[in-house]
Amino acid sequence: MPNPLIIFKENIVLKINKEFERFTGYSKDEIIGKSKSEIRNIFKIYNTENIINGQSIYLFIKNDQPREVVISYDINEENEQIYYIKEKRNSRIEDSLPYIENFVQENIGIAIYNAKDGTILKANQALLDFINLPTIKIENIIGHKMYDHPNFSFETIYKKIINDQKPYILKEINTKHHEDKYWDITFIPIFIKRKIKFLLQLVSDITEKVMSRKIIEKQNQELELIIENISEEIIIFDQEGEFLKMNKSARENALFDINNTKNVCGALNCFKGYEIDGTLIPYENRPINRIRRGEKIENYRIIRKNEKTTQYREVSGGPLYNSDGKLIAGILVSKDISDRIKYEENIYTKAQYDIITKIIENFDFGFARLSYPDFKYIDINNKAYELYKKINPNIGSQSSMIGQCISNYNKTNIIKLNEKLIKCFKNNKSYIYVNRHIVDDEELFQKYIVQPLYGLNNEIIEIIVIGIDVTKDEKAINILEKTLQTQDEIYSNVSHELKTPLNVIFSANQIMNMYLTNDLYDREKFLTYNNNIKQNCYRLIKLINNIVDLSKNSSGSFNANFINGNIIETIENIVQSVSEYIKSKGLRITYDANVEEKIMAYDPNHIERIMLNLMSNAIKFSNAGKEIFVNVIDNENTVEICVEDQGIGIAKKHLDSLFKRFYRVNKSLSRNTEGSGIGLSLVKSLVDLHGGTIKVESTSGKGSIFKVTLPAKIIENQVQHKIEMRNEENRIEIINIEFSDIYN
Ligand code: ADP
Repeated sequence: MPNPLIIFKENIVLKINKEFERFTGYSKDEIIGKSKSEIRNIFKIYNTENIINGQSIYLFIKNDQPREVVISYDINEENEQIYYIKEKRNSRIEDSLPYIENFVQENIGIAIYNAKDGTILKANQALLDFINLPTIKIENIIGHKMYDHPNFSFETIYKKIINDQKPYILKEINTKHHEDKYWDITFIPIFIKRKIKFLLQLVSDITEKVMSRKIIEKQNQELELIIENISEEIIIFDQEGEFLKMNKSARENALFDINNTKNVCGALNCFKGYEIDGTLIPYENRPINRIRRGEKIENYRIIRKNEKTTQYREVSGGPLYNSDGKLIAGILVSKDISDRIKYEENIYTKAQYDIITKIIENFDFGFARLSYPDFKYIDINNKAYELYKKINPNIGSQSSMIGQCISNYNKTNIIKLNEKLIKCFKNNKSYIYVNRHIVDDEELFQKYIVQPLYGLNNEIIEIIVIGIDVTKDEKAINILEKTLQTQDEIYSNVSHELKTPLNVIFSANQIMNMYLTNDLYDREKFLTYNNNIKQNCYRLIKLINNIVDLSKNSSGSFNANFINGNIIETIENIVQSVSEYIKSKGLRITYDANVEEKIMAYDPNHIERIMLNLMSNAIKFSNAGKEIFVNVIDNENTVEICVEDQGIGIAKKHLDSLFKRFYRVNKSLSRNTEGSGIGLSLVKSLVDLHGGTIKVESTSGKGSIFKVTLPAKIIENQVQHKIEMRNEENRIEIINIEFSDIYN
């Protein structure tokens, strides 16, 4: 079959053959008569100047399909130029890239270049959009070389591909004329027989993808920024519990020891977790482990604690699943709520405190609130301040105590106090103690009840101290103790003294009984025994009286009944009433006074006790023939009563102890010096009741002198009493009793 041919004469198409028509799709009418340059335009032969014989070029047939052809020509004798056109075998794009047509329909920009010179062989509208020539028709660009794109030099890329023999990819190209558009551009060299024959350019508009990615990126960035800067601590961890992400707050929190471990639980290991009520949270129930098991946690309050720090935290979080429903990570959001807890605690404390305040308002005791554990006054009420001021008059103002440590006011050792408190509180007890203070020679007792106020997690947050003046109660207890002690002393010291007269009475009684049962009666003997019985009865009465008085004295119920009277007369009467008795003992008695009358307040019965006691001692310890002196001296403000004897005297070493209870100089002395050791101590108590003093001077073997000095006071607005004398019977009775331990 002949080749297509086209014949020019003088550069005008003269003739084409049928094969030319069939090959190009153009009819004779469209071609014949056209000039050479018109023919170049029709077939889009822009890049070849003069066609050399045998040259292969691309020409575009009627439907704009490129055809690679080899052109040879001849000039005949009529000077006509005959161009023979022969299509190269297997050169059609649609044969090499059979699928390309499909792409061309798509929304992807496509261009196919002639690898030799970069001529556009094929292109679609999408490509024109990309190169910003949307109004230009494809038929107007094919056959031309690719334009240099504003964003890249096509020339450079073309050379690079030819040189490297590799595809070339441009990603996310953003052109100036399409600022809001993004493109991916790929140049693919197409090899035919190991040589690059075509360059395939694919341009895809990825604006939507990039935009949505950019939006997501931007959102993510914003989200990350929010997460990063949020005050809550956020940790994302994987199934193994390893950190995937932490925000700034989490990283900065000392709770997470991120330097040593990547594991969240490991990082938290230096802390223990507690429920808000103080119970330890076991490892497997730590929030992170619960989340890893798929649990959701909402506003769970816990305490994280080590030796240095205690943090109250509120924790929320939950598992994160992938699209297959597999747990892939966990998120934990937590925040430090120590301040909030403190605030709530304050309200809680205030509520407790309000109740207490209401209660204490109605009571009359001291009340103070102390901070814990530094024991500083938060609050102190007036009563407490008064109590303090009593024991420490130099204390500052009530308000100046606020904020000061209690150790500034009393010498409390706070550490020891705290130890004691904790011990008590552990046993659910208040710490109670009584302090004794001496102020102006007076004993003061203050009782303190120390009670903690607990916070929400059962920790001591404040201490309340209640102070009560218990001086009266304590004194009463002391008296009771003293009384009991006295009773003990009485039993151990006096039981013998009680038995002695009883034995005498009992044996006298038995002897008399014996006489009577044998019908024997001896009047003289009976009188003697009867006297013995009587004497020892008196002795018992004296002893019992003394014991009773001693007990009264110990319990503080030993009272005096003061009346204004003439003490000189009282003493003279007493002396007179015993003078006969003294004489009967072979002793002499001398009474003297420097005045006849001295009116003052005294208890006549007590004075009688004092005088009889001193005189009975003087008699007891004097031998017959000696003299006893009773002297009363009015010294205006005082009255001095002296009882002096010439008896056995008392050794110096005993003088200081003589007035102590149960003190006796020598218990093994002779019979007539038997005694209980109560007399002088009672005398001293009676003198004390009068506000007076008693002294003793003595020389062993020479005698003793007891000096009682009484203040001469008068009870105002009281009529002067005439002190009644006892009747004879009474007087004898008293003397018999008081002198009952004097033996013949
Ligand atoms: P008692 O009942 O033993 O006499 P007192 O308290 O009256 O108890 O006396 C205590 C002791 O003091 C006596 O046991 C005695 O040793 C000594 N004493 C008291 N008065 C005299 C005195 N006038 N002369 C010598 N010794 C005395």
